[in-house]
Amino acid sequence: MKLYPLFADLSRRAVLVVGGGGVAERKVAALLAAGAQVTVGAPELTPQLQRWVRQGRVAHRAGEFTPGWLDYVWLAVAATSDRALNARVAELAGLRRVFVNVVDDAELSSFHVPAVIDRAPLVVAISSGGAAPMLARLVRERLETLLDHSLGPLALLAARLRRRIRRRHPDLAARRRFYTELFTGPVAALLRKGQAAQAAVAAEQALRAAPIGQAGSVVLVGAGPGDPGLLTLRGLRALNEADVILHDRLVSAEVLELARRDAERIEVGKQAGHHHAAQDEIHALLLEHAQAGRRVVRLKGGDPFVFGRGGEELEFLRDHGIPYEVVPGITAALACAAHAGVPLTHRDHAQSVRFVTAHCRDSLDTLDWRALAQERQTLAVYMGVAGLEGFREQLLAHGRAPFTPFALVENGTRADQRVVTGTLANLPERAQAHAVRSPALLILGEVAALAGRLAWFGAPPLGEALAAPPRLRPLRTTPAACEPARRRA
Ligand code: SAH
Repeated sequence: MKLYPLFADLSRRAVLVVGGGGVAERKVAALLAAGAQVTVGAPELTPQLQRWVRQGRVAHRAGEFTPGWLDYVWLAVAATSDRALNARVAELAGLRRVFVNVVDDAELSSFHVPAVIDRAPLVVAISSGGAAPMLARLVRERLETLLDHSLGPLALLAARLRRRIRRRHPDLAARRRFYTELFTGPVAALLRKGQAAQAAVAAEQALRAAPIGQAGSVVLVGAGPGDPGLLTLRGLRALNEADVILHDRLVSAEVLELARRDAERIEVGKQAGHHHAAQDEIHALLLEHAQAGRRVVRLKGGDPFVFGRGGEELEFLRDHGIPYEVVPGITAALACAAHAGVPLTHRDHAQSVRFVTAHCRDSLDTLDWRALAQERQTLAVYMGVAGLEGFREQLLAHGRAPFTPFALVENGTRADQRVVTGTLANLPERAQAHAVRSPALLILGEVAALAGRLAWFGAPPLGEALAAPPRLRPLRTTPAACEPARRRA
């Protein structure tokens, strides 16, 4: 079946819906939304349909279907559960040259109702010509995630400015460039942030500005821990729009796969000990590409604001007048905890969690060890595996119990994830015995004992079986007032 796609203007046009059940109700709702004058024909109506009839929004023909119902209508929908009746409606409609849709019957239908992504006034309609409605639905779901809800307001804004844009840019190529910039540049970004008034102002400015090259921008995107499923939808959209992607070494190949095919990819890995030079180089690259009018995505592992120097990059961009946005990502601590079955907080074992980094001797020296050594809190430690001995030493010296459990997560969320468990007393030895390599995240605290029981992803944890929870008195500090009322009753 080869269908001709079309969008129909049904405002104030008569449409007949035969049937008064739930399916008919849904069809009527969609038709009303399009402004159609709906008549529903059926002996009985759902309560909602009855309400619409009472409110005068829908006309009602009671009783059994008669061909006269089809007089003067532009479209008809057969939505009864009676196949023979549906077929009769379809046949009579055909004789009168009225387009008819028979619900769930592609063959009897002379028009189909597509799966729709509604960003009104922008609408995307998908049809499989009745061959595989479920596939059309799946495609719809995929597209739904890709198309930001700000597209609706963006289309309205474009409609409002359309004539003036045409006058300002009579040349078609120039007009195209203007629209591309309008739809993907700062105006669109403002709308995504929900700043409609500012977006309108920015659009006005763009209209008045001399048609020079487009302005560049930078989006700082958190790529998450590695599994592409953990990238945010907004991050995915930014990758789809990027001209240039500056990414850390830590960003997985699978995430990079999702970027626009023709985007330039630049790895800006940092080597330990050369942080400063590398960071300056990154700043220079950001500036160069943004000033050349490109849409730059600065893609970082995990979240850009968690031990990612995202703040420094933003300050630099701000100082140079480059517009920027930030898209958060799932940070390693959250991702590794989830994928190792270690809840970072737990009513019985830990009331707080600290994100700590300890990449070298110097950073170890600056930490507040007394605070870190407190029990019943979880430490999520972003670090090279090299510092583990110093880490143990300090925690023990400041009173953390040697039997405090840990889970060390290597390559968290990736296919080759490994989890090594043990206690603080044997932490560096256990890491060494299993040759744990970077990237690895250490989770230390009472909750880590749950890794053995709650593990669900990848290989089971490598470690001595720990009784969970380990040698802990049950915690009774939760005040009764925090308990749900029914518990107290
Ligand atoms: N901005 C990043 C952290 C950068 S620091 C984030 O929010 O996750 C780099 C450290 O993060 C690594 O040394 C390691 O400790 C941790 N890390 C990042 N990805 C990881 C992963 N997939 N598995 C385990 N640790 C990871």
